Amino acid sequence: MNAFPQDAAPPPSSPPLERITARRSELGEGFSIYRALPSRGRRMIGAWCFLDHAGPVRFSPGQALRVGPHPHIGLQTFTWMIAGEVVHRDSLGITQRILPGQVNLMTAGRGIVHAEDSPDTSGGPLHLAQLWIALPDAVRDCPPAFVHYPDLPRTALGGFALTVLVGETLGESSPVVVHSPLVGIDLSSGGAADAVLPLAEGFEHGVMVLSGAAWLDGEPLRPGTLLYFPPGRARLAVRCEAATRLLVIGGEPFGESVVLWWNFVARTQAELEAAAADWNAGRRFGEVVGSPSARLVAPSLSGLRLPGGT
Ligand code: MN
Repeated sequence: MNAFPQDAAPPPSSPPLERITARRSELGEGFSIYRALPSRGRRMIGAWCFLDHAGPVRFSPGQALRVGPHPHIGLQTFTWMIAGEVVHRDSLGITQRILPGQVNLMTAGRGIVHAEDSPDTSGGPLHLAQLWIALPDAVRDCPPAFVHYPDLPRTALGGFALTVLVGETLGESSPVVVHSPLVGIDLSSGGAADAVLPLAEGFEHGVMVLSGAAWLDGEPLRPGTLLYFPPGRARLAVRCEAATRLLVIGGEPFGESVVLWWNFVARTQAELEAAAADWNAGRRFGEVVGSPSARLVAPSLSGLRLPGGT
């Protein structure tokens, strides 16, 4: 049986929703990281090219976050702290504690090194999101920089508390300096909430639940999955029935094709090879002083064959 007369067009339908299952890494004692970007089906959302959701976890005494000195090029690292505390140290000589409700933005440009460690080994909670933002070609070789943002603008909508992390929403504007049209919003609620969030129609968007459970335009979502919305959407219905936290990211589709490997964003394989060789030889990037963690070693690029690579 055919449900439709053969000479009639099928009824209009929306494209299927894109659900991106994050890769889960267990880092021991219940500490897991969900990596939602890049994924096989979707490399970027706007200039957002990497999304790690770490925790929530409660470290026992002796357990701690230890990410030793490692380099970056061609990107900004954006850290959104939800619970706990992390100490950032970098090759500019900056040491900065980041606390819940705060953002660290590190612009790698032509090259920087940083380490991220728990302040001590006394244990305690940890919950954060770290994202990377690809720098457009015009600024990707800029000098490295680091900015700590202790306060972000906050507003409320339909029972959610909103923190405007990047860009603008509901008349509030984040002070975080980025180089592409982007948005980042944290929504949290201690109980049931129901809101219609306005979106920039030219942006593509992604939503990740960081704790609890939510419905986005009726589509259920829990931690570990990124829901993708293509450009052309002016609003998004967000609902939850109990305490929930969500991250909404978006941006204009990034018009440049980038290669992401290890901690580097570049345009060619040759750039990646040079950066890895310089780091492993102790050139170019400088050093971090004071981290309790060992320096990381760039893995081998052998076997990596990127389109357009040389
Ligand atoms: Mn890093």
